[in-house]
Amino acid sequence: MEKQRCIIVGASHAAGELCISLRKEGWTGVITVVGEENYLPYNRPPLSKTFLAGEKNIDDLLIRHAEAYTKADVQMKLGCRVEKIDRESKKVTLNTNETLAYDKLILTTGARPRIMDMPGAELENVFYLRSIQDADHIRPYIQKESRAVIIGGGYIGLETAAMLVSTGMHVTLLERDPRILNRVAAPEISQFFSRIHTEEGVELFTDVDISELKADGNGTKVNEVVCSDGKSFAADLLIIGIGVITNSELAEEAGLEINNGIVVNAFAETSDPDILAAGDCSYHFNKHYQRWLRLESIQNAVEQAKVAARTVCGNPQEYDQIPWFWSDQYDLKLQIAGLSGGYDNLIVRGDLSAGRKMAVFYFKEDNLIAVDAVNSPQEFMFGKRALAQSSRLDIDKLTDSSVPMKELMLQD
Ligand code: NAP
Repeated sequence: MEKQRCIIVGASHAAGELCISLRKEGWTGVITVVGEENYLPYNRPPLSKTFLAGEKNIDDLLIRHAEAYTKADVQMKLGCRVEKIDRESKKVTLNTNETLAYDKLILTTGARPRIMDMPGAELENVFYLRSIQDADHIRPYIQKESRAVIIGGGYIGLETAAMLVSTGMHVTLLERDPRILNRVAAPEISQFFSRIHTEEGVELFTDVDISELKADGNGTKVNEVVCSDGKSFAADLLIIGIGVITNSELAEEAGLEINNGIVVNAFAETSDPDILAAGDCSYHFNKHYQRWLRLESIQNAVEQAKVAARTVCGNPQEYDQIPWFWSDQYDLKLQIAGLSGGYDNLIVRGDLSAGRKMAVFYFKEDNLIAVDAVNSPQEFMFGKRALAQSSRLDIDKLTDSSVPMKELMLQD
């Protein structure tokens, strides 16, 4: 009997997990990964930190080395792209004109940086930061005393600012919203990180509306970023981190359901049960928070990949995770468990206005919904566990940092 064929589109973090999970779950058929970049699946978090700094190399970034894929009998087709999915004949066409037949297709196409639509954004010292190649292109511009302007105060902007300022560059960060981390964190966290970045020497501006990227005399590089209120900032290097958009066009053209990403059910199946999706590109329902989400996180990539592998192997298990994230900036490790959106009360443990350690617990109707912890792994682990167990906490005692975390759990 001919072997079943599973094709994974996108050599992403989710793909790296899928290859191994499929074998663990008993997939004996062919596994082919098609990836546009010329690299095996790799970790992106170091791109804005140690990899950009030149402290880590590509080998350090790989989720698994080549031998692991060979051992798992995975065919890696790197440096090429799937251009079309034909659901009727169950075939994909690559940009090389090759066609591959599938029994199961898994889309792990991820997301790409949102492009700044403004003249000058195409010039040679303007970069986004999502790939190994992006980091490689930025690195030569990292020079002491030269000036970096960063547009966007999300994780990319802030992590990159931290890395660049530590090299002795002059760093200015411009955020459109009234505060940094507006999309992902409460005002208290924004305030804490604004203070830290300012103390470290980053010049932070919020409520900024960029009106022009001025080129130098040769017209090859941006040398000034101009704002509509008349402020302007000199730049040798410009990095843009203004969010991402999902790579869902392939799925859309194939007629799959799309809504803020590729819509999947609890088993990672799209509207076509022979096509699954996992990771940043997927839009899925979160059981714990009872709402639809698109999560840009490693945890989601890994856990949804495991769910997809089980579904493909006929051993389905529902996706049911409480999201968690982290961000490293300077010596600070921000760890987040849960989703704080919609909170009606928050408790700060520690001091937001001084020091480099604190935690914020978010409640909705007296139930813990999320915790943000900076250099506070105990608070993070405690919060994560309390969320998973839906434990009730003694809110009055939580503010008192001298009360050990284990004494805060209320018995029902
Ligand atoms: P992000 O978290 O969406 O933040 C982008 C920020 O830029 C937003 O605050 C956005 O404001 C702002 N912005 C948008 N247009 C702007 C403009 N024209 N001028 C100034 N500011 C503007 O996205 P990101 O930081 O680019 O990160 C990209 C992706 O990588 C995300 O998925 C992120 O989660 C992921 N990532 C994660 C980590 C981590 O978890 N540690 C680290 C790095 C990257 P609006 O909200 O108003 O658009």
